[in-house]
Amino acid sequence: MPAAPVAKKSRRPSRPAPELIFGDLWEFDPAPETADPKLKPRYDLFIGGTFVAPAAGRYFDSINPANEQKLAEIALADERDVDAAYAAARRAQPGWERLSGAERGKYLYRLARLLQDRAREFAVAETLDGGKPIKESRDFDVPMSAAHFFYHAGWADKLDYAFPGARSISAHGVVGQVIPWNFPLLMLAWKLAPALATGNTVVLKPAETTSITALKLAEILQEAELPPGVVNFVTGAGETGAAVVAHPAAAKIAFTGSTEVGRRIMRATAGTGKKLTLELGGKAANIVFDDAPLDQAVEGIVNGIFFNQGHVCCAGSRLLVQEGVADTVIAKLKQRIRVLRVGDPIDKNTDIGAINSREQLGRIRRLVEAGVKEGATLHQPACRLPAKGFYFRPSLFTDVQQSHRIAREEIFGPVLSILTFRTVDEAIEKANNTAYGLSAGVWTDKGSRILKMSTELKAGVVWANTYNKFDPASPFGGYKESGFGREGGRHGLADYVKLG
Ligand code: NAD
Repeated sequence: MPAAPVAKKSRRPSRPAPELIFGDLWEFDPAPETADPKLKPRYDLFIGGTFVAPAAGRYFDSINPANEQKLAEIALADERDVDAAYAAARRAQPGWERLSGAERGKYLYRLARLLQDRAREFAVAETLDGGKPIKESRDFDVPMSAAHFFYHAGWADKLDYAFPGARSISAHGVVGQVIPWNFPLLMLAWKLAPALATGNTVVLKPAETTSITALKLAEILQEAELPPGVVNFVTGAGETGAAVVAHPAAAKIAFTGSTEVGRRIMRATAGTGKKLTLELGGKAANIVFDDAPLDQAVEGIVNGIFFNQGHVCCAGSRLLVQEGVADTVIAKLKQRIRVLRVGDPIDKNTDIGAINSREQLGRIRRLVEAGVKEGATLHQPACRLPAKGFYFRPSLFTDVQQSHRIAREEIFGPVLSILTFRTVDEAIEKANNTAYGLSAGVWTDKGSRILKMSTELKAGVVWANTYNKFDPASPFGGYKESGFGREGGRHGLADYVKLG
């Protein structure tokens, strides 16, 4: 019998694949998104279905963080305006709750479709106001916002199925909501959609640096002929937010923002009988084991920390990498951040846009300086930054100790702190060694290890071999100082109803 053919050995000596160099060597033509964001020079408050001037007649500027130019003037609401918004919401609430679920659902479907119709316009407005890359507002923020309205439209007439066994299901009444600047439209959709589906009416305050898409959505609410007063927007900074939280007509407060402000809100609502949900900060561990598909993991790490300039509550800001592959992963990451394009967020080629505000840029710089001072090693690519606007280079820290501020505090910027571990137990211990507990990532080939990690990690969300994946049907929320309550899914809906 003839011998089986033996595979021929390649004569070519094995050598590493040549490194592709991008950086400043490649000049891309600018590719700005050109859709008209249709901004008004001045935005009033949205109360009782119409735009009304603030009682004190005061306005503040909303600027474009990419070039520091003024975009629009925004009304500054004081206690009188907040009171008027609650009065409108109170008047509207019984009628809104009495509507059949199917009717409320129709309004939510209408909002979702109208938002889709104007998706590009909203994406450009979101990018101009907040600094995030247009490819993210276009492909993530706006479609996900519409998806949340669609999803909750579906629940509106099926609440009996969401809460089987409940003898009665009713709304809380008027809900006060306060949201942050990192996902202005999406956080608004997360808050509005479940509240409306369950028969609540709303007084909502957007963040002071990013109010524009909320006020543009008010135009959509008018177009959809949502009954006046069902949704009211009051704009302003912390004082306006405090007035929204303190108002006696609020039956429930839903807050997304920093842990520090969350604590203040907890104190303000304690003993008032108001229901409270808090979605706060995070310091997530993205954990890479030595059997993980490393190239895929590196993409997940990059997405985990550089998506939206790292202004993400669930950002994978602590990389825990198993010792045997640490050098390889770090080398790949260094190479990868050299090819990230930092610059004008309205350009479709941009990977990392502008930091949301001068204050946030200052906070990132201070924490990065603290990291260097405490002995960690900073790695940044030598990319050019635009002369005007707020920008920060994608950054990696090695030689990080668990006690360093950059390993404990939320930086909320494009800065990754890298730590190593040897065993599964050490990874779990290090990952859980934080005051926060919002999210985590696990990269491994082993299914049983994923199950063990997701059981033992104290995090509201654990992604396996992926990162930053969202779906309106999937509840999102934290443990410990990352807050309590869930948004999305049946659990999120449950936070907006009283069950008898
Ligand atoms: P922030 O707490 O400074 O502000 C959030 C909102 O609260 C803003 O609208 C602000 O005007 C308002 N506010 C400020 N002081 C207030 C007060 N005393 N009473 C009531 N409202 C007040 O947070 P930020 O800087 O806008 O957002 C970043 C933070 O949000 C980060 O910590 C991030 O992790 C967190 N965040 C969490 C989630 C989540 O789902 N867990 C999602 C997005 C952002």
